[in-house]
Amino acid sequence: MTVYSWLVRLSSARRRCAAPRRSDRAAGRRAILAEPLKLHEFQAKQVLARAGIPIPLGRVASTAGEVDAAVRALGSGPWVVKAQVHVGGRGKAGGIKLAKTPEEAQAHAESILGMDIKGLRVEKVYVERAATIAKELYLGITLDRDRRRPVVMLSTVGGMDIEEVAVTAPDRIARGWPSPLLGLLPFEARALCFDAGVPERQRDAVGEIAQKLYRSYESTDATLLEINPLFIQEDGSVMAGDAKLDVDDNALYRQPELASWREVAPDDAMEEKAREQGFSYVHLEGDVGIIGNGAGLVMGTLDAVRNAGGRAANFLDVGGGAKEEVVRAALEIVLANPRVRSVFINIFGGITRGDEVAKGILSVLDQAKPRVPLVIRLAGTEAEAGRQLLEGAPLVSRATMDEAAAEAVRLARESRA
Ligand code: GDP
Ligand code: MN
Repeated sequence: MTVYSWLVRLSSARRRCAAPRRSDRAAGRRAILAEPLKLHEFQAKQVLARAGIPIPLGRVASTAGEVDAAVRALGSGPWVVKAQVHVGGRGKAGGIKLAKTPEEAQAHAESILGMDIKGLRVEKVYVERAATIAKELYLGITLDRDRRRPVVMLSTVGGMDIEEVAVTAPDRIARGWPSPLLGLLPFEARALCFDAGVPERQRDAVGEIAQKLYRSYESTDATLLEINPLFIQEDGSVMAGDAKLDVDDNALYRQPELASWREVAPDDAMEEKAREQGFSYVHLEGDVGIIGNGAGLVMGTLDAVRNAGGRAANFLDVGGGAKEEVVRAALEIVLANPRVRSVFINIFGGITRGDEVAKGILSVLDQAKPRVPLVIRLAGTEAEAGRQLLEGAPLVSRATMDEAAAEAVRLARESRA
């Protein structure tokens, strides 16, 4: 290894540890609630293919007609039709079906598209030429927070939930912790194959795939990159049967392509709109809409609503120093959620000014009477000026967070009845 390539590795390893860019304000604030970007199997497999890992020939489709075109383009069957949803266990849920004829593939597509798998609607299927499976392995990489480096896991008990294997037969999973500076070295990959009991004939192929997978894990800023199952086919060849890739969302600014693969589900549309406005919005399951300034205060607000016997419809942090327009946009986003039955605005002004918040609320109220009651607790900078502006406006003001939470929960319950 040359000195130059050492330096390149060193700098890329340092980059991986770097904090999110200061300038990326919205992303930085989102980090508090960070959730990795989950990619679909067909997207993850594209990443594997680029790394030189063998995958079955496949095509994505969102109608039965496209499935028909796909099987004809893929060539001789049988084929598998696979639901593309962000959960595992699709096989058991009926989301993966084998087809011997194009007609059968189309019929499977009709039954799988629109299917509900663990609460998620199937919008797309992936059609692949079926593998001839002799054995299923597991190969995965994730971050080991205790050891502060990635862990590569390999097991000959593949195909099923690795979490289950980890509990019932932990010694059946071989693990290795490569140096982040050097990556997974050939001897380490071979050691993993020996430890896991990979058949001799496949050791080279599996070891090479592990190294390629490691490089992909690094270059995609993954928090998880997993092949389960890794097929050993009847002819002895090795191929990725399934793929799962979660990308660290703090790194998305330097993974523009992967970021562009993000799908906006209806519930996420509002999160997307909020992101454009520069504040954090997370959709929750309850009916009390929440707006606050500062992530800590908003989390405290969620707790206060919970303690008052209610459930929050969202997390929304307008951030510090929010101006009238930002407050207006926040209120519009919260009110756009049909589940919301009351809104609790909790502001503790530091840099945020109470009068600016009041103006934002008034500009929404001026346009139309909100369809649900609003409750506000305004404290801190310019709170008195804000309260004066809001005098006579159709909303309820309370002095403390707990009182306001109780009122918002009561009003939500009332409007439900
Ligand atoms: P998951 O259940 O969501 O993890 O989906 P997988 O892609 O891992 O598939 C689950 C199972 O379906 C695999 O373990 C295989 O047993 C089976 N399967 C998937 N692809 C094929 C294939 O091409 N041929 C055959 N015969 N079985 C497959
Ligand atoms: Mn799987």
